[in-house]
Amino acid sequence: MTEKVNGITVFTVNYKDSDKILTLFTLEKGKITANAKGVRKANAKCKPVSEPFCFAEIMLAEKSGRYTVTEVNSFDSFYPIRLDLRKYYAGMTALEFTDAFMQDGMEDPDHFVLLAEFLKDLSYGDGDAKDKLAEFLYSAVNQSGYSMALSVCGRCGKEIKDRVFLSVKDGYCVCDECRKTGEGEFSYDTYKYLKALCDGLALSHDEDCANNALKFFGYYVSKVSGVNLKCLTTLIEL
Ligand SMILES: [Zn+2]
Repeated sequence: MTEKVNGITVFTVNYKDSDKILTLFTLEKGKITANAKGVRKANAKCKPVSEPFCFAEIMLAEKSGRYTVTEVNSFDSFYPIRLDLRKYYAGMTALEFTDAFMQDGMEDPDHFVLLAEFLKDLSYGDGDAKDKLAEFLYSAVNQSGYSMALSVCGRCGKEIKDRVFLSVKDGYCVCDECRKTGEGEFSYDTYKYLKALCDGLALSHDEDCANNALKFFGYYVSKVSGVNLKCLTTLIEL
């Protein structure tokens, strides 16, 4: 049986002499694994799909629950992402997040749209790659059900001034008066940056705040899910 899906290539690994096993995040079927036969040969017609980031219409042949790519119509390979290290690691972090958080065969159209829009903006839009990734991670974490309330103190509902603390367990920030033992403090400038993200305001790039915000998301993601985003660590060091 053959079927058509819209997919983004998330992860690839070489297989046999010239094949690749692809992890695709598809609109119709969620995350799936597919074999791309002969795709490492010079003139392979399905070549575009064998590289991360590629957004394509993909024909799949299914046999006993295994998929093989038979035809690819590439919409966009988001090539500019490959030409800039910051863009590359920001993009790879989004793919890593997708691979870790999307479950096999579970569709998630909201995340699909978020990822496709992020890659497009990262590729062609203005602005800093780290700011864009922070926006992506904020939306993605919220969509995944680990909603994060940053606008006001999560406990008393008042505005947070001067000092801010994070309750990982509750998924919100708290003020100085409400903090409990073990809830770590983080920088107020970083908090303002995160709050702007949360309120949907335009971010003015500040390298330290962006790095701290990304560390914050990395820490939060690893606490709630146990996943360490490796490409995020690399990006922060750039
Ligand atoms: Zn409070």
